[in-house]
Amino acid sequence: MNVLVRGGLIVTPEYVYQADVLVENGVIKEVGRGLNAPPGFEVIEAGGMLVLPGVVDEHVHMREPGLTYKDDFEHGTKAAAAGGVTTVVEMPNTLPPVDSAERVAEKARLLQGKAYVDFALYGVIHDGSVGRIREMLDAGVVGFKVFLGPTTGNIPPPRLGSLVEVMESSEKYGFTVAFHAETHELVEYFTARYRAQGSKPSLHDLARPPLAEAHAIRTIGSIQEHAGGRSLIVHVSSKQALEAVEEFKRRGVSMYAETCPHYLVLSADDYEKYGPLIKVNPPIRGRDHAEALLRGVNSGLIDTIGSDHAPHAPEEKSGDIWSAASGMPGVQTLLPLMLDLALRGFIDVRRIPLLMARNPAKLFKLWPWKGEIAPGSSGDLVVVDPREEYVVREEDLYYKHKLSPYIGWRLKGRVKYTILKGVVVARDGVVEGKPVGSWVRPVR
Ligand SMILES: [Zn+2]
Repeated sequence: MNVLVRGGLIVTPEYVYQADVLVENGVIKEVGRGLNAPPGFEVIEAGGMLVLPGVVDEHVHMREPGLTYKDDFEHGTKAAAAGGVTTVVEMPNTLPPVDSAERVAEKARLLQGKAYVDFALYGVIHDGSVGRIREMLDAGVVGFKVFLGPTTGNIPPPRLGSLVEVMESSEKYGFTVAFHAETHELVEYFTARYRAQGSKPSLHDLARPPLAEAHAIRTIGSIQEHAGGRSLIVHVSSKQALEAVEEFKRRGVSMYAETCPHYLVLSADDYEKYGPLIKVNPPIRGRDHAEALLRGVNSGLIDTIGSDHAPHAPEEKSGDIWSAASGMPGVQTLLPLMLDLALRGFIDVRRIPLLMARNPAKLFKLWPWKGEIAPGSSGDLVVVDPREEYVVREEDLYYKHKLSPYIGWRLKGRVKYTILKGVVVARDGVVEGKPVGSWVRPVR
């Protein structure tokens, strides 16, 4: 729990500057030049390397409990550690779903001891759980998730009245509600329409058009204009969705937006090559959408980048585009893909600590303990060699099922060390030691 990272370039949302970081007993003690390591400290020479805050991935589905044939918490958090993610915020659509105080406590107990990185928990809002918000907050959730369409775990979308209630509670208690924003009825209509046209993988994009996203976002925003509260629209995938978010932001509504690397680095041109492997909801869209999202990342319209790590078993990802499950694993390649975009000049490298550490930590009540390189914060660091290039190999992925489209991709910038509370948990992409992660509750 004691480490000195010496001579690296510290990357913060504001500056890139050379300094040492001293972590003592798991906590950042000092950031500055010429620091000395007391006896017994591990010293990491980081000359020429970038030092970033450990990534806070606010969007993972580790599938435990109940769906562990898809993946589990041990594999998922190992993958996180290997890829520079030190805190995951775990989604609640497991079996059973996390929709009461008791389920929150049960899930935390179950995952503790299997976690290679720290974790926080969401609660889920459906018509039956909207009355249990307060008890779930008291049990330690950092926020809530609302699915406006069908999902893994088959949680029915809440009625509009429940949405009003959850946003009123959000206003009262100051938590963030993460929305899967696609209007169910429109998705059903367009799916039926395009299903009739065959099973070309690219039809998935048409079956869930940007209209469904923008429509759902405008529903959420309108409710917020009445009820207040704070929303995070997760996995924004289209220009139209971004425009809807921008409208509400301009009007002073507390609406935030997340996108995921797959919407930035893949496009509809890739359906032919990858087929159901890249079937995700909302869908991967045309190149012009990816470019608009990239502009949103640079301009501040997009606030966070999450992985939406959503693994499935191989038999669920094969077959035709309509029957295949939606979602793919991504927690291990989250930071590597964003680093590659930064090192190739598509985004400013300082967007990474902002969108992948500080902002998600703030939205989910984990800041300033998580998401910051500053004295008093958790000693969570990622050391990256920007000069190294490498190829993503199947055997290096820690997922139970290695169904990643990125296998074989050449990326710039390699994660050399992932440090969790002063402990090196992964070195050169290899996870080491025991699961030292723990459950993180909201910072009071
Ligand atoms: Zn998700």
